[in-house]
Amino acid sequence: MRAHASVMHLDLDAFYASVEQRDKPSLRGKPVVVGGISGRGVVSTASYEARVFGVRSAMSTREARALCGHAAFLYPRFHAYKKVSEQVFGILRELSPLVEPLSLDEAFVDLAAADLPDLEVDTVTEIAARIRAEVAEVTGGLSASVGLASSKFIAKIASDLDKPDGLVVVSPGTELDLLRPMNVKVIPGVGPATTERLRRAGIHTVADLEQVSVEELVRLVGRSHGTNLHQLARAQDDRRVEPERETKSVSVESTYDTDLTDRPLMEQILTRQATEVAARLKKNGLSGRTITIKVRLYDFTTINRSATLAGPTDQAGAIARLARALLGELFTAGETAGGVRLLGVGVSGLADWIQEDLFGDDTDEDTEPDLPLPEPARRPTWAAGMDVVHAEMGRGWVWGSGRGVVTVRFETAETPAGPVRSYAVDDPDLQPFTES
Ligand SMILES: [Mg+2]
Repeated sequence: MRAHASVMHLDLDAFYASVEQRDKPSLRGKPVVVGGISGRGVVSTASYEARVFGVRSAMSTREARALCGHAAFLYPRFHAYKKVSEQVFGILRELSPLVEPLSLDEAFVDLAAADLPDLEVDTVTEIAARIRAEVAEVTGGLSASVGLASSKFIAKIASDLDKPDGLVVVSPGTELDLLRPMNVKVIPGVGPATTERLRRAGIHTVADLEQVSVEELVRLVGRSHGTNLHQLARAQDDRRVEPERETKSVSVESTYDTDLTDRPLMEQILTRQATEVAARLKKNGLSGRTITIKVRLYDFTTINRSATLAGPTDQAGAIARLARALLGELFTAGETAGGVRLLGVGVSGLADWIQEDLFGDDTDEDTEPDLPLPEPARRPTWAAGMDVVHAEMGRGWVWGSGRGVVTVRFETAETPAGPVRSYAVDDPDLQPFTES
């Protein structure tokens, strides 16, 4: 364990929604929901104004509409989020060479590798405050919550304690005081199933968990999970900040308008996705050892199943075979019985070299679908939220579309809230706007 609070966890607040509010002045201070906003979509991010109404990430958009119908429902603009992400990571990498990205808007930073006079609480607090100010400045006003602690585990908890716009430092030595009263759910890897098992054993808080022997925990939740819980309940976490974790996976996934229940059909979808993943690996000269399938069930439970090969592959056939086998396990376990709304395949544990293919020659027979596959749900041409430009009115964003009409609000991050106009969907004066 470290003697200093030198692990920083930074997490932008309501990231996608905050970028939308920055770029769409009329939405500032208002409920905004970003996600797949068609009939079967899922909420990616809700602004804090929408959270007041109970809207949460991973909830169905239908439910979000029922809770907060007056929110702006927008499709994500990943290019805009990616640009902000690059700006923020630029600041972090200037601070320390050890930055571990967790997602576009979240990272660990090892301050012990930064060029600082010391790592005392006052110093690291000052640094975190400066970083938050820099983030706000380069991103045009976005707020980040930051946690500082002696480990990744505690730093991540800390950044969440005073969200949004928070800065929490957990002084070394006080980790357990913070942790003990918390629900076991605060521990990474403790999801609904583990929580339920622990609850039945009378274990609710981390303090309860701390009383349980490692043998008993292993009996309750299995060997690796049990040992892990035993350590984390004592705030023992010596995982390093790992900068090389960046972009080490290639994956493809699709959401479907109708729940999938047919196993051959799903196998063929996975096979097609495996072909796409393999093509991308080859294009980038990559190969990977771990094959993962992602399955989102009708009730939004998301299941990931992985298997690791002895050596890396970039072969569609090998990836598809393993993906189908993993799906088979879910079928056997009865997990897919209620229907599947999203399927995906990914390859991680990437190496930037190609090893000889352990599975021999790749065959085509695996990768040619012979069933008519359903089309994944698509976003409309004029998707709510997208950037557009009009010959006379200039830049704006799609407020909504339907019945041959698209409605646009003309405003950008640099203008005040602007006027709304409607056009025919095929009006040649109106075009999608893409930054060159
Ligand atoms: Mg965030």
